Amino acid sequence: MIWFKDRDNRILRCNRAAAQTLGLRVEDVQGKRAEELYPEEAEAYLKEDREVIESGRPKLGVIEPLALFDGTKRWVQTDRIPHRNAAGEIVGVIVFALDVTERKRAEDVLREGEMTQREFVANVSHEFRTPVAAIKGFAETLRLGGLEDRQNRSRFVRIIENHANRLQWLIEELLTLSSLESGVVKLRLEPIGLADFVLEYAGSVQPLTRRAGVELRWRIPSSLRVLADQGYFLQVLENLIGNAIKYNRKGGWVRIEAARLCGFVELVVRDNGIGISPTHLPRIFDRFYRVNKGAASGATGLGLHIVRKIIEAHGGVIWAESKLGRGSAFRVRLPAFIKAKYNRA
Ligand code: ADP
Repeated sequence: MIWFKDRDNRILRCNRAAAQTLGLRVEDVQGKRAEELYPEEAEAYLKEDREVIESGRPKLGVIEPLALFDGTKRWVQTDRIPHRNAAGEIVGVIVFALDVTERKRAEDVLREGEMTQREFVANVSHEFRTPVAAIKGFAETLRLGGLEDRQNRSRFVRIIENHANRLQWLIEELLTLSSLESGVVKLRLEPIGLADFVLEYAGSVQPLTRRAGVELRWRIPSSLRVLADQGYFLQVLENLIGNAIKYNRKGGWVRIEAARLCGFVELVVRDNGIGISPTHLPRIFDRFYRVNKGAASGATGLGLHIVRKIIEAHGGVIWAESKLGRGSAFRVRLPAFIKAKYNRA
């Protein structure tokens, strides 16, 4: 877009592109004052123009918003150049404006990516700091006499072990996440009988439920089969059921249900635990997001993020419903395994 304004804020000449942004023809724009053409923005643009007219110096490469006549917002990069008459007096300003909306959008996305990257490194360092500090602290305690402290030394060693376990867990989660994000993961898809799979997993989780005083129940039709990678699918179950037990109360329950839904199998992990408030609910699948920062020592805030990545890699979806104080339901939809009815001749 190109236009030429005089000192009186009147557009004397413009090209078609400039007129089109106002939804007008060139002849309807030329000769009119900016205040008549775009009353709301005229003042702001005038300030810029005046600076150029008064200083006699061009102002180049300014990125500014531009509202089109139909309400759409664009970004333009403008060059304002003072225009002189034959006598060398400044009589107005010539403006060149280039639509850079797409470029600006791409830059914004890039900047956001860089910010998340920085945030990620900060988060990871933060997560590592606590266990490392504890391990160092208790190792030092042992070295400086703790080894002789018969009453406490085994407790110190246990603390070191717990924190080392946490570090290992963190590293494993980060590695899983990185391979899922890099897209190099090769899923070994196979039909998995849901009822048997859950039954087997439920057996292994019994000590956990007993300790938490939570009852685990499931009702899954024996015919249901999903098409999934066993290892990753187990990770999904472990995480969802583990959370349902962890964020629960004594006497609470966890229920697993499943049903066939067109080409999908919907698996629901439901609990009557502490629930999640509407402010936190939309963010629980975010990387490192924890509702209660000081919560359980095993909590990294990576679990659900990884779960979602796994489900998406399978071509499925996951979402959560919850009521604070009442409980939550995590719904997973995965492609069903459908046995071909006919063999090829
Ligand atoms: P982590 O459990 O390691 O903190 P997750 O990504 O698994 O991380 O979960 C994120 C957060 O979502 C948890 O910190 C917890 O506050 C909340 N959350 C997850 N599952 C449940 C649940 N079943 N009931 C209540 N809150 C939950």
